[in-house]
Amino acid sequence: MGRKGVKTEAKTEPRLRQKRAVTDRSTIFALSSGRPPAAIAVVRISGPQTRLALEKLTGRVPEPRKAALVRVRAPANGETIDEGFALWFPAPRSETGEDMAELQLHGGHAVIAGVLDALGGIDGCRLAQPGEFTRRAFENGKLDLTAVEGLGDLIAAETPAQRRQAFRQLKGLVGDRAENWRQRLIEALALVEARIDFSDEADVPENLIAPAVQIAKGLRDEIAAALADRHRGERLRDGLVAAIAGPPNAGKSTLFNRLARREAAIVSPYAGTTRDILEVHLDLDGYPVTLLDTAGIRDSAEPVELEGVRRARERAASADLVLWVTDLSAGPLSEEVPPTAKGSPVWLIKNKIDLVEDRRATATEERRTKSEYEFTFSVSAARGEGVDVLVSALSRFAGDCLAGAEASLVTRARHRRALEETVAAIDCALAESATKDPREELIAEELRRAATSLGRLTGRVDVEEVLDAIFRDFCIGK
Ligand code: GDP
Repeated sequence: MGRKGVKTEAKTEPRLRQKRAVTDRSTIFALSSGRPPAAIAVVRISGPQTRLALEKLTGRVPEPRKAALVRVRAPANGETIDEGFALWFPAPRSETGEDMAELQLHGGHAVIAGVLDALGGIDGCRLAQPGEFTRRAFENGKLDLTAVEGLGDLIAAETPAQRRQAFRQLKGLVGDRAENWRQRLIEALALVEARIDFSDEADVPENLIAPAVQIAKGLRDEIAAALADRHRGERLRDGLVAAIAGPPNAGKSTLFNRLARREAAIVSPYAGTTRDILEVHLDLDGYPVTLLDTAGIRDSAEPVELEGVRRARERAASADLVLWVTDLSAGPLSEEVPPTAKGSPVWLIKNKIDLVEDRRATATEERRTKSEYEFTFSVSAARGEGVDVLVSALSRFAGDCLAGAEASLVTRARHRRALEETVAAIDCALAESATKDPREELIAEELRRAATSLGRLTGRVDVEEVLDAIFRDFCIGK
């Protein structure tokens, strides 16, 4: 049934596309390096006018993929703007798949402005929108959607573990697996469709359903196993969240500042929606932990701030760990049960030991099996005593939660949804196949649905609604 097999194969494919049609043929350019002034600036150009742009600005087109020292001149009056390197990447061997060039210049404001102005003056050239280079790479089949996300994550990665995770995704950890699964699903689908199309012909083997079911079962188990990763991949990508909470004046902000001030650990403190710093990103042995100060979360009458406050509260309530700070000098510990929406561990931080005389009564890290606290620590947030022990414990906690997470396939809710939908559709197909009188059309339909979900994951089927969301997060020049 060779010829017929081909026909069946073709029938399952038309909704899927290898390459996406590129409609906008303008040539785009942008400053792709960081904020000027800087030692070096990189301006990228992509599109059909790239060669012309190089000729106009530098008077030549270098050998492909070899850096050439060039004078960059304003085409309008021939004035030299700068001297630098030009690189020429003719299509299709370029990042976007189009003709591309890179100008490495001195990173001053006026140099960059001069070059961007000159490029803007060339017919058919315009400034790129955020993420537009990457979008073209996707549209030209250079990157699948998961690789695009991996690229975005690589740029956003704050710790080594996040960087490794993003790099693997960029290099196809998810995309290749998903594509392999999709191919096998299509194989199963082809068998079922062959059975449907040729059921009345004598030379078609009676049972094509059994091998299809076997493929589908194997796939289902593989995908389900990838999903059963306790969300490690997503947690690594997002970072663990530890919320500092406790009664007023216990020393929450002091502890927060103490932890945040360990300069080696700080990644990027940024101002919260109120004027206080609400969160700080820590790199603990390569694992990302976001520390939240709930003392900084205050009510506000400002509508803009309100939304931020609401989000901060929500994050604190769903933290992976709560550090419950109490004032040891304030008499008996409060019986108040700390708020943990999702049953996360709570560590008791007994603060202000510098005010207490008998330090032996405040041993650190005793395990209190009968209480809701998993660990207790005795610290002086103001003086720094005991804080190192707490930090080591936080590092261990992050390691335990995130070990091996780099290898997790699923790094985003979008991936999880697509894979869950795939499993659900395969389950429906398997359930139908197990009935007394299986309807082959239904099995085929469910397998097709499963393949479409996988295709949506890698961007092989139309996904306009997710595209905008994904590329929106990119900066201009990427
Ligand atoms: P928050 O309301 O829980 O954020 O508490 P703060 O961090 O604002 O601290 C309340 C008061 O306790 C401030 O006056 C701090 O200086 C003081 N404080 C915080 N930690 C310590 C500590 O370890 N020892 C002592 N002696 N005072 C502390």
